[in-house]
Amino acid sequence: MAVLITGGCGYIGSHTCVEMVKAGFDVVVADNYHNAKSGVQQRIVALAGKEIPFYTCDIRKETDLIPIFEQHDIQAVVHFAGWKAVGESTVLPLAYYDNNISGTVTLCKVMQRFGCHRLVFSSSATVYGEENPAPLREQMPVGKVANPYARTKLFNEQILQDLCIANEKFSAVILRYFNPIGAHESGTIGEDPNGIPNNLMPYISQVAIGKLPYLQVFGDDYPTHDGTGIRDYIHVVDLANGHVAAVKYAMAHCGAQIINLGTGIGYSVLDVVTAFEKATNIKIPYQVVPRREGDVTIYLADPTKAKELLGWQAQYDLETMCRDTWRWQQNNPNGYEE
Ligand code: NAD
Ligand code: UDP
Repeated sequence: MAVLITGGCGYIGSHTCVEMVKAGFDVVVADNYHNAKSGVQQRIVALAGKEIPFYTCDIRKETDLIPIFEQHDIQAVVHFAGWKAVGESTVLPLAYYDNNISGTVTLCKVMQRFGCHRLVFSSSATVYGEENPAPLREQMPVGKVANPYARTKLFNEQILQDLCIANEKFSAVILRYFNPIGAHESGTIGEDPNGIPNNLMPYISQVAIGKLPYLQVFGDDYPTHDGTGIRDYIHVVDLANGHVAAVKYAMAHCGAQIINLGTGIGYSVLDVVTAFEKATNIKIPYQVVPRREGDVTIYLADPTKAKELLGWQAQYDLETMCRDTWRWQQNNPNGYEE
């Protein structure tokens, strides 16, 4: 009996592989290395302390997926494989719909063919759009999303809910992540963005290591305590453990559940800068620039449902998230080299 992790060589997937094995699951990984380097494999195995089968597989291709299901008794799938760059999705909407939606549909078709009906899916807080007030709760209306990436998450949520209605054995745990940051405490796996990072924490850590001169703070005129935007940052290992809890839940229940994974605590951009400086003793120079288009004032989870249904809640604080990010960045200034 094994759990298939699609996109298991990526940022969140690699940490989830480690936590799943630590929790006693056998893990099989499928990744096409679109946004991952093969060098991550040996690091995952070293942390997991157990061999893991890795397949080069594009989830859009049944012919890539079928041999994995033939080879292994896959009882559940944790589905991370997808593209995630908001800006790119506005330029390449069809490619995003193809990879993120066709990929899920093909994966589910193959799962059904092999009688596998438990899926944990990576959704995103971005489906809440711009109009819902914080804290964000799962039952709030969604639909007014701002870009094709967010729409792929919303459509996937709806497809999985339809599947659960059509097939009463199917179980889909749809996890809406808030802002994952941090890295494994070993400093051997972490986030390895391509080129100049879009997200706050990798940008700060590249400033800290001297690859970028200063942070641009996107707007200080938001209605928050210091004028900068607020987010619910969550340690990637906490997030990974949320997936372990979600797989256990999916094993025991049928139907679709949508669940936030966040801490319920909001920090501004300048709070994060201060926490990073405190955790690392490194000064982060910054300049305030105009707001970034599409940004909202605050994204904050109500994490109650995750606690009630999964028995899960985040453990790590912001300072630990900063310290672990920095250890990863220092040990791997150029990310995974191969
Ligand atoms: P990532 O890019 O690091 O990992 C995704 C992995 O999927 C990569 O290893 C990539 O090579 C693989 N992949 C992409 N398309 C594939 C395909 N067709 N077939 C096989 N493998 C494929 O991203 P991540 O940050 O680990 O995110 C994982 C998931 O969580 C994504 O679906 C993303 O949209 C979602 N998510 C991420 C965040 C975040 O801030 N990181 C927030 C919310 C949701
Ligand atoms: N941000 C910033 N400078 C950057 C990157 C991000 O000021 O170089 C801000 C951004 O405006 C938001 C917060 O940091 O308020 C988190 O942004 P990120 O891109 O990490 O996450 P998202 O906007 O997707 O929640």
